[in-house]
Amino acid sequence: MRSIAWLAGVTGSLLGSAALAGALSPEDLETAARLRDQALAGSGAYEIVASLTTEVGPRPAGSAGDRAAVDWAQRKLAGLGLSNVRLQPVVVPHWERGTIEARTTAPFPQQLVATALGGSIGTPEQGIEAEIVRYEKLDDLRNASRADVEGRIVFLSQRTRASTRPDGYAATVYNRVAGPSVAGGLGAAALVIRSVGTTSDRVPHTGALSYTVNAPKIPAAALSNPDADLLERMLDGGQPVKLHLKMTSRDLPYAASANVIAEVPGSDLADEIVLLGAHLDSWDLGTGAIDDGAGVAIVTAAASMIARSGIKPRRTVRVVLYASEEYMLAGASAYARQPPDEIARHVLALEADSGGDRALALDALVQEDKRPLVDEIAAVLEPLGIEPGEATTRGGADIFPLMAQGVPAMQVRQDWTRYLDAHHSPNDNLDKIDREQIDQVTAAYVATAFLAAQAEGGFGRIEPPKRTFAPTSGSGTAPGSGSAARD
Ligand SMILES: [Zn+2]
Repeated sequence: MRSIAWLAGVTGSLLGSAALAGALSPEDLETAARLRDQALAGSGAYEIVASLTTEVGPRPAGSAGDRAAVDWAQRKLAGLGLSNVRLQPVVVPHWERGTIEARTTAPFPQQLVATALGGSIGTPEQGIEAEIVRYEKLDDLRNASRADVEGRIVFLSQRTRASTRPDGYAATVYNRVAGPSVAGGLGAAALVIRSVGTTSDRVPHTGALSYTVNAPKIPAAALSNPDADLLERMLDGGQPVKLHLKMTSRDLPYAASANVIAEVPGSDLADEIVLLGAHLDSWDLGTGAIDDGAGVAIVTAAASMIARSGIKPRRTVRVVLYASEEYMLAGASAYARQPPDEIARHVLALEADSGGDRALALDALVQEDKRPLVDEIAAVLEPLGIEPGEATTRGGADIFPLMAQGVPAMQVRQDWTRYLDAHHSPNDNLDKIDREQIDQVTAAYVATAFLAAQAEGGFGRIEPPKRTFAPTSGSGTAPGSGSAARD
């Protein structure tokens, strides 16, 4: 239900001046504040992530869990009052982790806690045994001589730092993504990295690698932080350190999956879309609560609140639960491969893929003259302790291909302090979701999505952002073609 003031304004000249003063009516701002406060009091997001992690569990692309997640999402979205629930078929890569044995054989035998990087090949059946050569960073390895690396197991030791921002992740994720092919290109037998994760628990963090076409594929694994510490101390001792590595990881034939799409239909601007995205797939070590059960829950709960409020938004609010984000971004590519006139219908995109912890700021990349509209929306989030953010965002890995086609984006920027403790690890489970914090994030999403659906004139078009980050999801595409370093 659009406000009376607006309806009157359609025919009256009064609207002209009102629209100049603000693209949002007082009634819309009030409605957004009410949805915000409702979410804060209990958004239902926690129940959604509990359902997904308990009833489906891990759901890597192409697995039985993936298929179960697609079924779950269809039922859940319809059950929560969303309309036009449908599947966009997506062909996804299917990689199997298999088993891993990692142990030092010199200076003394010790089992290490490790896991294969997503997309890694396995070792020969008898495993690989070789001396370790350590480099801290990927750049150090790039500058290494072939003679130092050939036949050895490269160890990248760089530690990931925790921060409210994803900076630490951006600094080390290349070790995982590009390390295997850099090491392979220098003749290494295998690669092990210190996990791109911040916990001191003895758990490894997986995540996709990206083999390049011009380097031999070598097996690659991540070590838990305490095991990486041990290797470093052994190496500091100056004696040769040898590692035995046996992995049975492998690629299976591509499989059928789907993006799950659902909507809160709009009214007078129903053809225009405000997209709320999250990814339905997860890695397999935990149950994918923070990555990205939380995002699925946030966008689903936010859309559901609008659907059940009895208020018909002007624009259509569309939820897209993407397939195969973690490995090759197959769902994002499929969705973005629409005709230009379909892409042009997307007025704004938001993606939730930063766990369930507190929202700190609202970042936005919109057409320059639309900044005042962002400020108006940010003001509604202020009671949540959310600050006006930066005039830029990289959105997220799944919506980046839309941004690359000019679709404006906002990002409810969340606190990353705890995120990398459990990210991609066996510790990514429901106990990491804090009910109060995920309600606060959902409150930000529901208010933002609703106001974006109402705003007179929309957000314009953006210049495609520069692709400064390497792909983070093991895509077979060229380095630099991926998006934000967020997964
Ligand atoms: Zn994710």
